[in-house]
Amino acid sequence: MQDFLKHLVQLQQTDAAILEKRRFIDRVPLRINEVDEPLRIAKAELEKIRQKAAAAAKKKKDKETALAETQEKITKMKNRASDLKTNKEYQAHLKEIENSEKEIVNIEEQILQVMDEIDSAEKEMAEREKGVRAEEAKIQEFKRVLDTDVAKLELELAALKEGRTKIVSELEPDIYNTYLALLKRGNGMAVVRAENEICHGCDMNIPPQLFVEIRKNTDLIQCPQCYRILYYEEDTAGNS
Ligand SMILES: [Zn+2]
Repeated sequence: MQDFLKHLVQLQQTDAAILEKRRFIDRVPLRINEVDEPLRIAKAELEKIRQKAAAAAKKKKDKETALAETQEKITKMKNRASDLKTNKEYQAHLKEIENSEKEIVNIEEQILQVMDEIDSAEKEMAEREKGVRAEEAKIQEFKRVLDTDVAKLELELAALKEGRTKIVSELEPDIYNTYLALLKRGNGMAVVRAENEICHGCDMNIPPQLFVEIRKNTDLIQCPQCYRILYYEEDTAGNS
């Protein structure tokens, strides 16, 4: 195989490796975003239960205020007993105290109920907090692994780029420019194998006469269909 063709094949392999590693690195934010989703949901659920607990706490406070006010009212009524003149007045007075005492029982029941609400909200909150922490730990671990992978890829990329510069320096500028143009139009594939009279870039048949020329690996030959540069893998056995 001619040197320029060898270099083109190496360049193509290098660029394919660079592209693959870059794609992995470029996808990292997207993958983190996907992994973040359950955490966002867990946090939203925790916030909901937190608000529920806060609303219940406020309700409890309101009920306690109402309880204190009713108790004060009863004390005042009891102090007024000596002012009462008639039996009728006295009966009405007793009735009023009785009603307020019923009210007290009622409020106390409501407070117990709201305390149950607070209790279960707090239990649920603790569960949800555990869930959030678990999701956070999962993401941390995922990011840690990704960071390690990316750091490794960056090192590999640097080495590949260094190798690429060396290969490019061996190529004629004209050939390199042709390669670059084909790389762009060929979706990252500019140099492809020809095998069994088929172009591995576009899978189209190569005319037998042209394939004979390609097998020599001496000239720059492009596929008549996709224009990619073709070469013949000399080690491969059993070709036509
Ligand atoms: Zn082709």
